[in-house]
Amino acid sequence: MSTAGFSIARQIKLVLDKMEAAALRRPESLQYAKPRLVAVSKTKSVDMIIEAYDAGQRHFGENYVVELYDKASDFELQDRCRDIRWHFIGHLQRNKVSKLLDVPNLFVVETVDSIRLAKAINETWQRLNKIDPLNVMAQVNTSGEESKSGCAPEEVVQLVKYIKEECPRISLVGLMTIGSFDHDPSTGPNPDFQALFKARENVCKELDMRPQDLDLSMGMSNDFEHAIEMGSTSVRVGSTIFGSRSAPETSHEHKETELHASA
Ligand SMILES: *Cc1c(COP(=O)(O)O)cnc(C)c1O
Repeated sequence: MSTAGFSIARQIKLVLDKMEAAALRRPESLQYAKPRLVAVSKTKSVDMIIEAYDAGQRHFGENYVVELYDKASDFELQDRCRDIRWHFIGHLQRNKVSKLLDVPNLFVVETVDSIRLAKAINETWQRLNKIDPLNVMAQVNTSGEESKSGCAPEEVVQLVKYIKEECPRISLVGLMTIGSFDHDPSTGPNPDFQALFKARENVCKELDMRPQDLDLSMGMSNDFEHAIEMGSTSVRVGSTIFGSRSAPETSHEHKETELHASA
C-alpha cells in the first residue's frame, strides 16, 4: 500500500521520537509516565493496520462502531495482531453500545460523555459476563463548541463519581478531549489542554483519586508534542502515520483544503 518514500514504520518511528523529546520537556511533576501513542486508523485499510502492528504499534483508534467492528473481526488481522488494543474514540450512541462491546480486543472506550451512556455500557458489559471490567474514559467538551461531544467541564466530577460508585463493571482510566482545531501553540498554551488538565485536578481533589491513575487523552497529528508538554499521557495520531484521509472529516482539514484551493 505504501507509495514510494512513505513508510508507515518510518512515520511511527518519527512520531515516537518526537513524543520522547516532548516528554523530556515536561515539568518534573509530569515526568511519571511515558506517553502512549494511539495510531488512529479510521478510513485506512486492514493491511495498513497490520503493517503498523508489524512495526511494533499496539494501540489503535477508530471512530465508527461498524468500521471498528469489521476491522477488529477481520480474520487475517485477528491472526496476525493478537495483542492489538483498540481504542474507541468516536461519538457513541446508546443503540450502538452492544455492537461496540462485541469488538474483539476492545481496550478502552474513550468517549463516555453522559451518565446514561455509562449506565448502558456498564449494563451491557455485565450482560456479556466479562471477567475484567471494561476501561473507559470520560470525554470532556473543553472548547464548548456545540459540534463537539463530551460533557461540560463542570459535569466531569459528577460523571466520574457515578461511574466509580454505580458502575462496577467499568473502570475509569482517564479523561479525553478533542478540543478546537485551530489553536496556534506559538501563541501560548492550548486552552483545551489546560481545561482537561484542570478537570483532572478537580476530579482527583473531589473524589480522592491520584492524577497518576488517570490518563489524559489529548493531542493529534498537528499538536501532539504540545499536548505532551502540557501533560498528555495518550496522544491520538492519524494522518501523520497513515497519510492524509481522502474524505475530510474535521473542520481543520476542511480549512486546509480551502487554503490549498485558494492558493
Ligand atoms: C481523526 C481523529 C484523530 C486523529 O487525527 P489526525 O489529525 O489525523 O492525527 C484523533 N482523535 C480523534 C477523536 C479523531 O477523530
